[in-house]
Amino acid sequence: MSDRLYYEDSARLEFDATVVAVTDVEGRPGVVLDGSAFYPTSGGQPFDTGWLEDVRVLEVIEDDAGRVVHVLDKPLEVGRRIHGRVDAERRLDHMQQHTGQHILSAALDRLSHARTVGFHLGADVSTVDLDVPLSHEALAAAEAEANRIVWEDRPVTIRTVSEAEAAALPLRKEPERTGALRLIEVEGYDLSACGGTHVTRTGSVGLIATLSGERLRGGTRVEFVCGGRALRYLRLYRDAVAGCIRSVSVAPADLPAAVARLQAEAKEQAKLIRSLQERLAAYEATALAASADLLSDGTRLLVRVVPAADPGVLKAMASAVCAQPGFRVALFSSSTPRLALVARSKDVQADASAALRALFAKFGGKGGGRPDLAQGGGLEAPEEVLLTRAREVLTQ
Ligand SMILES: [Zn+2]
Repeated sequence: MSDRLYYEDSARLEFDATVVAVTDVEGRPGVVLDGSAFYPTSGGQPFDTGWLEDVRVLEVIEDDAGRVVHVLDKPLEVGRRIHGRVDAERRLDHMQQHTGQHILSAALDRLSHARTVGFHLGADVSTVDLDVPLSHEALAAAEAEANRIVWEDRPVTIRTVSEAEAAALPLRKEPERTGALRLIEVEGYDLSACGGTHVTRTGSVGLIATLSGERLRGGTRVEFVCGGRALRYLRLYRDAVAGCIRSVSVAPADLPAAVARLQAEAKEQAKLIRSLQERLAAYEATALAASADLLSDGTRLLVRVVPAADPGVLKAMASAVCAQPGFRVALFSSSTPRLALVARSKDVQADASAALRALFAKFGGKGGGRPDLAQGGGLEAPEEVLLTRAREVLTQ
């Protein structure tokens, strides 16, 4: 009989054993027992947790010598008799995901000739990697068939066979190891070599729910959850959908279309607001232009702080003013750190970009542009100081 009790009986969660060796696992105490029901991380399935007496089993690994090492929160001495208890909830969760994977992989193989080339049992969701691309419809068909097998509550049995016996059996996948093989059989549906823990009847898997099927390296990665995790996901989606349908007042099935409509409306409104802001800015610019200072060379200088301005408004105002000949313009936001826009009319000899850089040099900020229009932000300066300096750099 194997010293791995889960090999023959995955439902066994309590056992008595003796500590036969102690070891150190990256600074944490570890023990080897003369027999254990704890599953060590292997074959895509994570380890069990639980207790040896009142000592916590934090992790279970297989060491290089093939021994099952229990990593503990406190040391135990060699020769100590212990009573071991596997965390039942975590074990059941892993058995549901792992048995569900066998059934789902078999369904994908039978219906679509999609072979499973990888399996990972994650903390949140599990994945199987398939060797071919798979359509949404093919995945849905396999999901439906897999659940039919679950609800038929078929027996799941364990047996050990020799290599020669295995060669004559219709295994879903070529075994990766040699010698005696542990086979898991879902009655009348799937026969696979596997060292993991599984439920004893398919009904205990509860439900197999696929979450996504994404193209990956020429094949498909299918995300799925089973049993208790499927219920957890249903609750998560239920609460998310309930929150959404309350705020948009549609039936759940109409939600995607409603969200698309809201997004389209928001985009239209943003466009409308932008065009209104620009038209308003052009009106305000007319009044601003009239208040500009007349310089000795006949050009006009307009240096102002504009309340509630965003980059689009500043640009629209400056462009409207500079569409007329003879202007030099510097506009700033009233909010700090300040936005800045420097511009000039086509007929005026001045470098807006250089003027803006001169302002950054004194007040910080960044940005850039062309000789006729430059824009930036991040300037820190009191209004009067900023306006005085802007007049200086624009008239140099
Ligand atoms: Zn398995």
